[in-house]
Amino acid sequence: MRLERLWESTLRYLLRKKSDPILRSFLQEARLEQRENRFILQVPTQLIRDTLKNRYPGVIEEALTQVLKDAGGGEEIAGDKREVVLELEIHREPSGMIDQPGLFPAPKGDSRLYPTLNPSFTFETFVVGKNNHMTHAAALAVSQNPGCVYNPLFIYGGVGLGKTHLLHSIGHYILENAPALLIQYTPSEEFTHAFITSLQEGKMKEFRRTFRSCDVLLMDDVQFLARKVETQEALFHIFNVLHDSNRQIVLTSDRSPRELSDIEGRLVSRFTSGLITDIQPPDYETRLAILKRKADSLSAPLTDEVAEFLSEQDVANIRELESILHRVVSFSTLELLPLNLDTAREALKGFFEKKEKPCTFEKILQFVAEDFGLSKEDLLSKKRTQEIVLARQIITYIARILAHLSLSDIGRRLGGKDHTTVLHAFSRISALMKEDPALERRILSLMNEIKSQ
Ligand code: ADP
Ligand code: MG
Repeated sequence: MRLERLWESTLRYLLRKKSDPILRSFLQEARLEQRENRFILQVPTQLIRDTLKNRYPGVIEEALTQVLKDAGGGEEIAGDKREVVLELEIHREPSGMIDQPGLFPAPKGDSRLYPTLNPSFTFETFVVGKNNHMTHAAALAVSQNPGCVYNPLFIYGGVGLGKTHLLHSIGHYILENAPALLIQYTPSEEFTHAFITSLQEGKMKEFRRTFRSCDVLLMDDVQFLARKVETQEALFHIFNVLHDSNRQIVLTSDRSPRELSDIEGRLVSRFTSGLITDIQPPDYETRLAILKRKADSLSAPLTDEVAEFLSEQDVANIRELESILHRVVSFSTLELLPLNLDTAREALKGFFEKKEKPCTFEKILQFVAEDFGLSKEDLLSKKRTQEIVLARQIITYIARILAHLSLSDIGRRLGGKDHTTVLHAFSRISALMKEDPALERRILSLMNEIKSQ
């Protein structure tokens, strides 16, 4: 039995025997490894490790032993030993994505999670462009009529494109214009953390009260709820209470609801029961406008020439656009150089070299066409031979992973395929790669080539 499967079975066995939400939450994030005859369970934090050790001694070993025995694979995987030896280790992965640290617990005597909103993330500082105007309009409408228009509002889009900025803008607007309303702003990871802490400390009542009593729930990055089954369930009930009493819910996610495959269907279906709207990467004009606005806020004298030069750079998102502006402005300040084109070029030297070369759709198309011995025209045509269909699906997969193109973008470039077809292609290749090692190798080596050229 493979380790992954072994761990899945153990988890199932364990949770069937012991329906304990804390155990379930804690083990959701764990990973099983094997070193010689020992099993190592990697858990994300010391708290989890200690709790597992002290509160559930021997429980996991026992389950593992049982599953191995049932599978008759004990010898194969654990050597000669009949007794399973299990150690707990902490694996530290940068979570990296929490925008707002330390929102929970709330200050004493106040049941709200203090909306520590970034003061510069307001509607005033948000530049509206073709890429985001729908979402901006929806966010503004919700701020002006919380609970009355789009509920929930679900905003999705790639990283660094302004989701958090808009979410905070809604918070600021309501705080200012309807101060009586109670706002809860929480990145979903904070919500998960608050949930687990409350469970452990026997404070579920407070937890529920905190969230059920708010008038506006702003939850950032719901994709991080993936596989957090208990947390999802808690949110499901909170969601229903809030929604049924017309309180506003706004959610953001780095992917579309369809792609939230590790979140329970019933929760996703709640997420999508209002308005779903996306933010796309900004076009040239919007990048230019954002740069000018940011330069103003830094009181940096940005000429049109430099602004245009910076807007033309191949940045992945607005966060990166801001970072090249900062780089250029601080370079000119520190080196006492005028903020002109030469200075900008000099400041950015090396910045893009370190980055991987841009991976465009065109390049992917060309590489896949060559690999399959097909012409680009064939791939973009309506032809549907098995080979062409497979090549197109591989293009979809690579374009999504390497070029971070949206499903609709890929569909358009592949000659007008709809969103569902593209999503199907992506899932099919992901599944095929798991089943067929030769195909997996072929695709990975293609991707490596594309990245390095
Ligand atoms: P996300 O949450 O989508 O990853 P953020 O909201 O954190 O992205 O935005 C990243 C950075 O880009 C922030 O500094 C934000 O102020 C800025 N930004 C994004 N969109 C805009 C916009 N339309 N106008 C001005 N600044 C923006
Ligand atoms: Mg964000």
